[in-house]
Amino acid sequence: MSFPVIGVVGGGQLARMMAPPATALGLELRVLAEAEDVSAVPAVPEAPVGDYRSLEDLREFAQGVDVLTFDHEHVPTEHLLALMAEGVNVQPGPAALVHAQDKLKMRSAVERLGLPNPRWAAVHHVEDLVAFGDEIGWPIVLKTPRGGYDGKGVRVLGSSADAAASIDWFGTMTPLLAEEMVTFARELSVLIARTPSGASRAWPVVHTIQVDGVCDEVIAPAPGLDPAVAEAAQAAALAIATDLGVTGVMAAELFETPGRGQGFLVNELAMRPHNTGHWTQDGCVTSQFEQHLRAVLDLPLGSTRVLGDWAVMKNILGGANGDLYGSYPAALAAEDAAKVHTYGKSVRPGRKIGHVNLVGGPGSDPGDLRARASRVAAVIRDGADAPDNADAAKESA
Ligand code: ADP
Repeated sequence: MSFPVIGVVGGGQLARMMAPPATALGLELRVLAEAEDVSAVPAVPEAPVGDYRSLEDLREFAQGVDVLTFDHEHVPTEHLLALMAEGVNVQPGPAALVHAQDKLKMRSAVERLGLPNPRWAAVHHVEDLVAFGDEIGWPIVLKTPRGGYDGKGVRVLGSSADAAASIDWFGTMTPLLAEEMVTFARELSVLIARTPSGASRAWPVVHTIQVDGVCDEVIAPAPGLDPAVAEAAQAAALAIATDLGVTGVMAAELFETPGRGQGFLVNELAMRPHNTGHWTQDGCVTSQFEQHLRAVLDLPLGSTRVLGDWAVMKNILGGANGDLYGSYPAALAAEDAAKVHTYGKSVRPGRKIGHVNLVGGPGSDPGDLRARASRVAAVIRDGADAPDNADAAKESA
């Protein structure tokens, strides 16, 4: 048997980070890139430029690959159905993927499976929205079911006046998703991988820290999490993946709600490697990127054992420093155990341009690891003269 070619639709950092494990396993990774200059292009031998919204472009790309998978969830369902009808091996398939594309479909599936959702409603008009808020109590959260990411497409509405002011969202997409504003202890994420044959593995449940709707830090495993809740969260993710026929990596983002639901409520699903799983690159026997490749090829899955007592991941968002490599001497000298990952992306304020992983052995402390990883990220973000706010980070840990 010859080594297979894996085609990834989308050339973002997730596709880029699939390249090292693909190389290690001798697989060819090929990327359908949005443009010549996207993140994954320098990391793979072939990256034709094409539009994921064009069936023609997808068809041409799929011709030379053994399995088609994704860097993002935005490929239209009808195109994927057409490709499958033509014999293309699409993993995950469109019937699963739609639950990561459409938050209303996701809420319905979670409900159907008897798993814990926030209170929610599909709202067609401002009047529906006001009625929902009046019923469950303000504030509420309004979401566009499709196309949102990093908190774009999420609005907190404090009153019926705010609801009336959201008229601009109705009409662009209807119905919208209204949710209760959940009071949670913290946000959690659980990642699993599943193969077309039905084999699966879960990584430990992690604590994710969001700033302005964007993932900022991850601590693995989630410190102090009730083992019964962790187990229930993994079981829920697996139940969802099995029911929906998910293949590859799936992330379920959760709200930790002690005493409510199963100790958590489901926030949303992603069907691809996920920012909350980047720590597995350096913190686990098998990273989420390697596991995704194994899973879509229906190969045996790798061990998800953690290599240490704790692992932390700190995102690097675009900041004052435009010369990332220029900051490397100071950043790498600051912490010789830190693993720095940058995505080859131009620096724009707030844009995800890289992350820092740090794994701690026996006796390590997650707060200390966070402070140290944050220091490295700050030097890369702001340059070597960045103020040392490691102590502040440690205090807030
Ligand atoms: P996105 O698809 O943009 O990631 P999410 O639905 O995950 O959007 O929401 C982004 C963030 O907004 C969440 O991580 C959480 O911090 C907050 N959030 C979303 N929904 C709710 C809710 N129902 N109650 C409270 N906070 C929420």
